[in-house]
Amino acid sequence: MARIRISGIVNDSIVDGPGLRFTIFTQGCPHNCEGCHNPQTHPMKGGKKTSLRKIKKDIASNPLLQGVTFSGGDPFMQAKGLIPIAKFVKERGLELACYTGYTYEALLSGYVPFAKELLSYVDILIDGRFVLKERSLELKFKGSGNQRTIDVQSSLKAGQVVLSKDPRWV
Ligand code: SF4
Repeated sequence: MARIRISGIVNDSIVDGPGLRFTIFTQGCPHNCEGCHNPQTHPMKGGKKTSLRKIKKDIASNPLLQGVTFSGGDPFMQAKGLIPIAKFVKERGLELACYTGYTYEALLSGYVPFAKELLSYVDILIDGRFVLKERSLELKFKGSGNQRTIDVQSSLKAGQVVLSKDPRWV
């Protein structure tokens, strides 16, 4: 049975993007940002394993959801495992957002296995490490000023980063 390693799931989040969202906090992060709020998500072998089938069932059981958010940890550490969930989310017409400590350019470089495939399903990417010196509480759905809110599908089409202009996000 296909499984991913998670640190937790919130099935009615209102803080990980606009509207009511299903948020998957994946386990494992290599970035070690100073001031990280979730150090328990860093060890690759921490958290617990959960089946993709259960996650899909839980997403399908909530008709009020407007979107799904992959958070962490760094979701791209388990990009291959998340692809079936991402596909399922898009088939259901839900918005898919993803946080990552990598930059968009690094994800496209081929350095992170399966990153490009996962990105092909993502609508909004919040990219870049959390930088304590650039921390701001004024930012919408992100922690520090260096992080970008990227319209992934427009960026892939344009061949360069296109920042989101969606007023729900920025
Ligand atoms: S990328 Fe996120 S989870 Fe990973 S160390 Fe940085 S702030 Fe923490």
